[in-house]
Amino acid sequence: DSKRAGRGVVRIFDESMDEGIRFRRRIEGGLSQALERDELTLSYQPIVSRDTLEVVGFEALVRWETPDYGSVSPAMFIPIAEESNTIHELGDWVLAAALAQVRTWPGQYVSVNFSPRQFRRPNFVGHIVQAVQHAGVEPSRLQIEITETAIFDDADRAADTLYRLRQMGFRIALDDFGTGYSSLYNIRKFALDSLKIDRSFIDGMGRERESAAIVHSIIHLGRALGLGIIAEGVETEAQVQALRIAGASHLQGFFFSSPIDAGTAQAMADRRFIGGTDDDEEPATGA
Ligand code: C2E
Ligand code: MG
Ligand code: MG
Ligand code: MG
Repeated sequence: DSKRAGRGVVRIFDESMDEGIRFRRRIEGGLSQALERDELTLSYQPIVSRDTLEVVGFEALVRWETPDYGSVSPAMFIPIAEESNTIHELGDWVLAAALAQVRTWPGQYVSVNFSPRQFRRPNFVGHIVQAVQHAGVEPSRLQIEITETAIFDDADRAADTLYRLRQMGFRIALDDFGTGYSSLYNIRKFALDSLKIDRSFIDGMGRERESAAIVHSIIHLGRALGLGIIAEGVETEAQVQALRIAGASHLQGFFFSSPIDAGTAQAMADRRFIGGTDDDEEPATGA
């Protein structure tokens, strides 16, 4: 009867939930061991200048190769780490590893993602300063990527934190811009260097008038506020052309390069451009 069927439905639902919770627990437990077991690595995705196509920086993106589940996406495990202090341990490792790499590049910056919980950690500024000092890296070689969510919950404190960091020479980029609840109007009080236009808008540019209009207005108003504009998720030549015309200052995405390992990034950093060899890649420098 219906009561029984109802109970059955509930039980099946509970079981599948149990499975979800078990998986989460294993991810949580695995994450805290991942560092000791050396399962985390960083990939680096180049960010190029619109005008010269020179590689000006690389975004560090964490990768986790688990023994049980193979490669797990950060989109999956970062939110889990974010629910506990595990995010701090993970974030400290990411920052130290990224700074060790940037030291070996000729001049590019490394762009590191910080989740809201990391950003709100007591003495966030002190942690960052200590990390760059320990690595022997100038603040200008580190770009701090934060999202709108991180700064709007406690806007006054966030504004103060960003101001202090920027005074010391760190670069600040607002990631996934356009997806949160901020507007160009209420970001004006934050000390930012760049906006990263979320890739969903770049993706929609060629198909929907709305996305193209949003991209154009972010670029237009962002530049009026003196901000750099990094377009993320650039996949096609058509998007490159449209973004160059619209006036984005920097481009990032699979069209140029997917995230690459540290060795490949090192070679690219030394070459200063995406493709080719050392010899044929340099723009004409005389001869
Ligand atoms: P995000 O910071 O917005 O990073 C951009 C994501 O887009 C990356 O995914 C990147 O691989 C992907 N991507 C880059 N170019 C293209 C493109 O042309 N097309 C498409 N479809 N995708 C592209 P990934 O590496 O899976 O990272 C996902 C998210 O996880 C990141 O989004 C960031 O929020 C978070 N994350 C990654 N590494 C870290 C980290 O070290 N710390 C923290 N706190 N979060 C991280
Ligand atoms: Mg990012
Ligand atoms: Mg992003
Ligand atoms: Mg994004």
